[in-house]
Amino acid sequence: MPMSTEVIVAGGGPVGLLTAALLDAAGVRVEVLESKAGQSEHSKAAAMHPRTLEILTVLRTDDGRRLSDVLVSLGRPEPATHFAALPDLLDYSGLDTPYPFLLVIPQATTERVLADHLRRRGVPVRHGHEVTGFTQDDDGVRVTVNGGVHEARYLVGADGARSVVRREAGIDFPGTPPTTVGFVADVTLADPPDRVRHYWDHRRGQASIIPFPDGWCRVFGTTVEDTGLTPEQVRTRQSQALTVEEVRAALRRVTGTDHGLCEVRWLSKAGDTTRQAARYRSDRVFLAGDAAHVHFPAGGQGMNIGMQDAANLAWKLAAEIQGRAPSMIVDGPAAYERERAPVAARLATNTLAQGALFTTFTPAGAALRDLMSGLIAKGGDTADDLAAWLSGLGHSYPPAVPGHPLEGRRAPDLALAAGSVHRRLAVDRFLLADFTPDAAFGHLRPHGAEVVQALPWSGLSAALIRPDGYIARAWTAPDAAGVSAALEAWTSRG
Ligand SMILES: Cc1cc2nc3c(=O)[nH]c(=O)nc-3n(C[C@H](O)[C@H](O)[C@H](O)COP(=O)(O)OP(=O)(O)OC[C@H]3O[C@@H](n4cnc5c(N)ncnc54)[C@H](O)[C@@H]3O)c2cc1C
Repeated sequence: MPMSTEVIVAGGGPVGLLTAALLDAAGVRVEVLESKAGQSEHSKAAAMHPRTLEILTVLRTDDGRRLSDVLVSLGRPEPATHFAALPDLLDYSGLDTPYPFLLVIPQATTERVLADHLRRRGVPVRHGHEVTGFTQDDDGVRVTVNGGVHEARYLVGADGARSVVRREAGIDFPGTPPTTVGFVADVTLADPPDRVRHYWDHRRGQASIIPFPDGWCRVFGTTVEDTGLTPEQVRTRQSQALTVEEVRAALRRVTGTDHGLCEVRWLSKAGDTTRQAARYRSDRVFLAGDAAHVHFPAGGQGMNIGMQDAANLAWKLAAEIQGRAPSMIVDGPAAYERERAPVAARLATNTLAQGALFTTFTPAGAALRDLMSGLIAKGGDTADDLAAWLSGLGHSYPPAVPGHPLEGRRAPDLALAAGSVHRRLAVDRFLLADFTPDAAFGHLRPHGAEVVQALPWSGLSAALIRPDGYIARAWTAPDAAGVSAALEAWTSRG
């Protein structure tokens, strides 16, 4: 059946918008269906980590900038970030990335930048389009929207925690029930802190204040009374709207002052339900972002991991649509679900552990926090591992066959003879980085890959870098036959 749209993305949150932008960059015809009438003005997420900015570098604006450049110009870089609001912070300033900082930027700004980009590219983002179901067969998907039907070859469910796509695909969403209800508010303070502040006291609770670039502040925390609850108690607490008086009282109790709280633009509550989709794909239907995993919003990770899902999915789905995907990336060891489900499982462990550190309001909890904070302050492996995880720079994908230790790891922004790797990546092709001084691979004209001359790195002769910036293969000897075979294995249907 001829179809003008190749992919429908259900959900115009950060994950859906980025998925659409990356598919479009790969030449795929895509549309976004979003149930809300307009762009969201409220922000859940406030933190963007280095790896997400690296991913956004692949998207170009009309004036030659990258979306990462645009976001950095709109946000506020912080040199360090917290783990479970511990007093000692994880230092990002020494990380090997063009973005060695945490970017404080409201989710609404990120969504606006992505939506503007899609508008300029002519990609439809249809507001007021609520997906209510779909059917699929060998030809494609038929998505029901406000009583009408939209057709495409594939559907990506980026429709958030209560995903209709997940439900209609019959995909289970197992996990652990909530025990905690946190408060979240965006406020103005007459006496705001000059930088991010975290407060914790085992008799009083926890509160954090994050100044936003626009003068507003994000305030979040947990009171002692709102922890250790049954799921029923959580439901009851969440059904009671948060009031500004509660926020003021919590601030006074935990920090000693309400910091001159004046205006409020958003009040919400957040729980620690932790769930992960049992499958990320059902034939022509994929899940990404909160539709695939939810957890306690600790350390600012959900949106970041979801956007990294999008980066993993988009190039593979584009290759599948364009008939150039090897089975390895469709249903083999490098398939979307095989690579991303373990990341969400680690995300669940990480956020449950942070939840315990955040909300164990006992002397034992205080002792555990002291111990963990001390380990972070000491530097070394604990601090490095946590920073590598939270920044996203340390995530890697196990290679199908054990080879060079760099295989499966993210490529740093390596220097090329002209430019650098991250600014040379494209969603629809691989990079073959040639590190040999005599350009031993320069004569290759591979289909689906660009050969680039790189400056010497890690004793390699060549590295095959995936469109999402991970090293597919690495060689120390100038093995022309091995390089050709790898190019064939990764970039053609076979
Ligand atoms: C208080 C709080 C603070 C947070 N802070 C951070 C942070 O600092 N950093 C971070 O990385 N993460 C953070 N998170 C998590 C982050 O907000 C989410 O992980 C992120 O919003 C997920 O993006 P998404 O696009 O997958 O889903 P969503 O943002 O939920 O977007 C889904 C979209 O789909 C639409 N939709 C839903 N159903 C349908 C339907 N049937 N048809 C069409 N459209 C539909 C919705 O209207 C919505 O626009 C925080 C979360 C909370 C609650």
